[in-house]
Amino acid sequence: MTFRAFIFTILITGTCTLPNISFAQTVNEPKNNPAEWSRPYQPFRIAGNLYYVGTYDLGCFLITTDKGNILINTGLANSDKIIANNIRTLGFKLSDTKILLTTQAHFDHMGAMAALKKLTGAKVYVNAKDAQVMKDGGASDYALGNGKPVYTPVTPDKLLHDGDVITLGATKLAMLDHPGHTQGSCSYMLTTSEGKRTYRVLIANMPTIVTEKPFGQLPSYPTVEKDYVTTLRKMKTLKFDIWVSSHASQFGLHQKHTPGDAYDPAKFVDQAGYEKALNDLQAEFDKMVGKKK
Ligand SMILES: [Zn+2]
Repeated sequence: MTFRAFIFTILITGTCTLPNISFAQTVNEPKNNPAEWSRPYQPFRIAGNLYYVGTYDLGCFLITTDKGNILINTGLANSDKIIANNIRTLGFKLSDTKILLTTQAHFDHMGAMAALKKLTGAKVYVNAKDAQVMKDGGASDYALGNGKPVYTPVTPDKLLHDGDVITLGATKLAMLDHPGHTQGSCSYMLTTSEGKRTYRVLIANMPTIVTEKPFGQLPSYPTVEKDYVTTLRKMKTLKFDIWVSSHASQFGLHQKHTPGDAYDPAKFVDQAGYEKALNDLQAEFDKMVGKKK
């Protein structure tokens, strides 16, 4: 529909049915976020072909291959320059970014997705269950959604399902469906090598609870409680050497690494830290379920 036809429709019918595009929508990113979310941070190599390119707290990860690169998460709207600078600082070309992913379609990981898609020309892949929220800029999010976009809507190029493997160059990245935090929250697993050593790496989306409402009062997401149960159970069985996650604070980045440190993947070998984080989240979930009864 052209703009003229759209206005004509309003005049004739007296109704205003918006076509499913976002030109009339302004994006209102939530304000008063923690300062660490917007603070630049020195990028570094985590292990093999996996690099940290996020802000001080918003975990963004670059996986490089000889067929181009994959970027997971894009921070807030103002993270675009930080991420782009970080990628260049590491010596990589922004235009080599071929695939864009997210661990969850919330504004603190999707903020710069539209901008980076435009800048790189990369394709956006998303867990099918987060596709709608991504398309409406978070407006329909079951917990945070207020009917208005909180980040620039992005139309995904490809929908992913549990266990799908994304192949680029020699890298195979598996998408693990871990719903609850959003309906399509997910983690990624890859194997990376460094000389003779190989590391199995988990890029986790930790199932923190977003809503203060009892789970039974979320009609747009009737399976939320069941999904948290499944996600917590599935995540507890994952085996890996190294883990990182959507927020630096969740995997103790700043306890493990200081800018300028020499390359040392062993610092991120931390199954115990992962198990403790999940046990804490299990306790939080149990408390939440208890509240309902
Ligand atoms: Zn979130």
